[in-house]
Order: sequence, then C-alpha cells, then structure tokens
Amino acid sequence: MRKKIVAGNWKMNKFLTEGIQLTVDILVELERNPPKHTVILCPPFIHLSELSKVLKECSFIKIGAQNCYYKDSGAFTGEVSVPMLASLGIDYVITGHSERRQLFFETDEIIAQKVKAILAHGLKPIFCCGEPLDVREKNEHLNYVSNQVQKSLFNLSQQEIKSVVIAYEPIWAIGTGVNASPEQAQEMHLFIRNLLKEKFGNESADLTTILYGGSVKSENAATLFSKPDVDGGLIGGASLQASEFMKIVRSLPN
Ligand code: PEP
Repeated sequence: MRKKIVAGNWKMNKFLTEGIQLTVDILVELERNPPKHTVILCPPFIHLSELSKVLKECSFIKIGAQNCYYKDSGAFTGEVSVPMLASLGIDYVITGHSERRQLFFETDEIIAQKVKAILAHGLKPIFCCGEPLDVREKNEHLNYVSNQVQKSLFNLSQQEIKSVVIAYEPIWAIGTGVNASPEQAQEMHLFIRNLLKEKFGNESADLTTILYGGSVKSENAATLFSKPDVDGGLIGGASLQASEFMKIVRSLPN
C-alpha cells in the first residue's frame, strides 16, 4: 500500500523560536492520537537542526528541507548540499516547487539533477509539478505536467521512482485561496499515475504517493483527500498555524 502524507511547507516564514513552538504544538497534539500516515514539516534551513532534536523520538513526524543543491560540496556560495541535510537526519527535500522555478529560474534539468542527488544520498524528493493558469485555460495542462514529469523523473530507475513523492500543485491555486476541485485534482493525479505506469510499470506507479497542493484548508481538505489518487497534501499557508494544520492532518483518512 502506498504511503499517505500531509506535508507543511512553511516557505520563508517563522523565526526559529516560532518554528520550534509550532513543532511542539503539533507534536503534543499528535502524540495524543498518533496518525497512521506520515506528517512532514518543511521549515526554513536554519530550523532544521533544532527541529531534528525536538522530533528525535517521534516516528510519525518527519522533517523535510525546502531546497538543496545537487553538488556534494564546494564553491557554491549560499547553497546547502544533500549530504549536509542527511547529516541532520532530514528525510525529505522539496524540489521543483513553482516558486523556485519562477523566482529562482530552476529548469527541469536542474530539478532532475536535484532529484538524482537527493536519491543518491538516501533522502526522498517531494517533486512538485503543475501548470500556470493560461495553460489550464487552453486545456493544455495534461501535456504541460507530462513534460515536467518526463524531463525530471524519467531518467530514474524502477527502484528509484519508488522513493519519490510527487506533489501536483497547479500554480493558479498556490496561495490564491482558489483550490483545484477534487475532480480536477483526481484527473491530474490519475494522469500522472498512468504516466508512471507506462514508464515504470504498475507496481512502482501504484506505490508512488501523489500529493495535491494549492490552497488546501481545513474546509476543503477532506473532499480533496477523498479522491482515490489523492494520497494527501502539500500545505503552504495553512501549515503555519498548529490548529488549522492539525485539522488538515486529521482530514486524511488513515
Ligand atoms: C505551496 O506553496 O506548496 C502551497 C501549496 O501553498 P498554499 O497551500 O499556501 O497554496
């Protein structure tokens, strides 16, 4: 059975003390009734070390980084490598997020290299893909996402793809308050799973977790998560408040 996940992407929010408090609040609440699925917190880099201490004994909350570089070390000012993340016990790394594609000019090829590096060091990529509004309006969204998936994931082996988490995040839904409908999410998730089936076979595709991201809130989470190919969510704004995030975590069926 494939893993179900709710992941919080804090983006460039929360000072360290606030991030620790948010983590403790989530931990205390979840310890009362531990979920069967995985919860991932993706804070800014400077929080990772402290959060890994806070969550050391906890099996159901994992930590993710929001980015990495694909080289192991060297003269890459401002970058953080996957071995550095591994040394802190980080489990996941978000890559291909639309904000990094748009604001930091990350191409499909760069993202492919990051995915490879993340896997090479035993971490799991949360690979984001998704179309802008004009592409959806032209009804070219399936082709667009197919291209992204092929360019960054189709060089992986059948074994490697099993460690990849995919997050479908339509750009028009990120931070806008307008979520994809459950039907739109299901259509794309099934499409992505079928792409994986053709390339990697049924077993790998069936085991791949595909998350939906884009304006998920406590009010819409349950209907989105009820779709058969929606295996959880990548949550931005709504992950910054423990009570709201917890409601979303509890909306995911075990
Ligand atoms: C995101 O950026 O990954 C995201 C899903 O953001 P939001 O939930 O705020 O739309």
